[in-house]
Amino acid sequence: MTNPIRLVIFGRQGAGKGTQCLRLVEAFGVIHISTGDMLRGAVAAGTELGLQAKAIMDAGDLVSDDIINGIVRERLAMDDVQEHGFVLDGYPRTAAQAEALVMVLGDHGLHAAVDLDVPLDEVTARMKARGRDDDTDEGIARRLALYEQETRPVLTWFAERDLLVTVDGLGEEAEVTERLLSTVRSAASV
Ligand code: ADP
Repeated sequence: MTNPIRLVIFGRQGAGKGTQCLRLVEAFGVIHISTGDMLRGAVAAGTELGLQAKAIMDAGDLVSDDIINGIVRERLAMDDVQEHGFVLDGYPRTAAQAEALVMVLGDHGLHAAVDLDVPLDEVTARMKARGRDDDTDEGIARRLALYEQETRPVLTWFAERDLLVTVDGLGEEAEVTERLLSTVRSAASV
């Protein structure tokens, strides 16, 4: 492909972002770049980065913009990403990260920032229903509040640059996928 698809995806915990990222990979052949997965990989491998990141992640804080920007910049420069495009998941999480991303990609480097939108009460109900160990009422509320605080300004940042597209994440998984794929096709003109 001469102009591979380049996306950022946002969504509350429980919005189904993981599944829908897989669908984007299947449909468009893009590389899924999850900063959370990369950091957990570094922790598991016991690298210098992993050692630094572990305490920060355990405390539920954000890894510094400099560190995470460096990791993402290196990943974006790799051949597979250059060739197949990407969906960035978990990044950018701050306005400074969004600025850094646009610096790396250039002004027309992103086709869209997708917000997979599922209302707060629905994601809360979904997380309670799946009943994972960390899905206590308090834990759920805290993570969702943090998402709101962190991510809302970044969504606004993309909206101001006319890059934000919202996909309704309510309904059957396959319906959501259809909506997502058609939104991406029109944003990327493919
Ligand atoms: P969650 O959505 O539960 O926060 P992630 O897998 O996206 O899960 O991230 C796990 C942890 O990794 C975060 O809590 C944070 O410490 C770190 N992290 C991931 N992405 C970033 C980022 N873009 N900037 C700073 N820290 C990040």
